[in-house]
Amino acid sequence: MSSPLLSIDLDAIVENWRVLDARSGAGTQSAAVVKADAYGLGADRVAPALHRAGARTFFVALTEEGARLRPLLGPEVEICVLSGHMEGDAPLIEAHALTPMLNSLDQVTRHFETLPGAPFGIQLDTGMNRLGMEMPEWEAVAGVVLNAGPRLLMSHLACADEPGHPANAAQLAEFHRMTDGTGVARSLSATGGILLGRDYHFDITRPGIGLYGCAPFTDARPVVRLSLPVIQSRGVAAGESVGYGYTWTAPHDSVVATVAAGYADGVHRRLAGKGRLWAGDTPCPILGRVSMDLITVDISHLEHEPATLDLLGPAQGADAVADQIGTIGYEVLTALGPRYRRQYIGGAD
Ligand SMILES: *Cc1c(COP(=O)(O)O)cnc(C)c1O
Repeated sequence: MSSPLLSIDLDAIVENWRVLDARSGAGTQSAAVVKADAYGLGADRVAPALHRAGARTFFVALTEEGARLRPLLGPEVEICVLSGHMEGDAPLIEAHALTPMLNSLDQVTRHFETLPGAPFGIQLDTGMNRLGMEMPEWEAVAGVVLNAGPRLLMSHLACADEPGHPANAAQLAEFHRMTDGTGVARSLSATGGILLGRDYHFDITRPGIGLYGCAPFTDARPVVRLSLPVIQSRGVAAGESVGYGYTWTAPHDSVVATVAAGYADGVHRRLAGKGRLWAGDTPCPILGRVSMDLITVDISHLEHEPATLDLLGPAQGADAVADQIGTIGYEVLTALGPRYRRQYIGGAD
């Protein structure tokens, strides 16, 4: 088979969800964040697997993402939209019974006017300055809003992946100040917040990246394997060069494999000269430029030409690739392109 293979272990995703769920107390429900197509891994497969495992609340970024999810999950689950109620979204929100997390007085007004009585939550800004109402705005509308029966009051931590960062305690205190005594279900923590401990858990947690096997959930079970077929390999004599721009010149006689994936598949160009593919547990440096559909790799030290080389797998997860190019596992996963054959493992219950 000639095309690259992306294997996604649904059982590992489910287990990561269960382990994170067990980190919080019995009074806390674990939702699942499946925005951006479940971080690039396929929301149409990931969300139903988590639903079968017991997840009852899902978070997406956009109304359209929620609308695609509803038919897969049935009428019972709550699908929360983090961007809230944007102009023109009312028909989709209504048709798919989505719960927008209203971020501003404008959104509250829009929601109450276009869909009176429809479910909603409120997003509060406790310091991140990205989405949600700050204290003065919240104080002005809280009476009316709380009367209308919000499903959830939520906020988001900016620095939860740094447990010692003072912003965590400050945001927690602000969240208490804004929500104590309301009697409404509350949610503050994504993956990082879950790992900060019980004080941060409230009624519902919102794990995303930890489900998909990445930091800050360092105990996560690996989820993805990306195997790239070797199309061709050749001897390159000392002094010959490889690839666009002749950026790599063989220091000694070498064997170079050409592999079927490139930057169009999310193999970032900056991996040239820094990244590695793996033949089992043997690393093979990426050399020369990364092309749109191809990369070239040093396999001089292997005994045989391998049929495939792994970019992601047990030897190297998305976080390790991210480190090589100065980004985060989230970006490596969401950049994985549409060209891969996808194989899903498990996920039945
Ligand atoms: C993306 C996101 C999450 C999930 O965060 P992870 O770090 O992936 O666990 C939770 N809440 C909000 C508001 C988000 O934007």
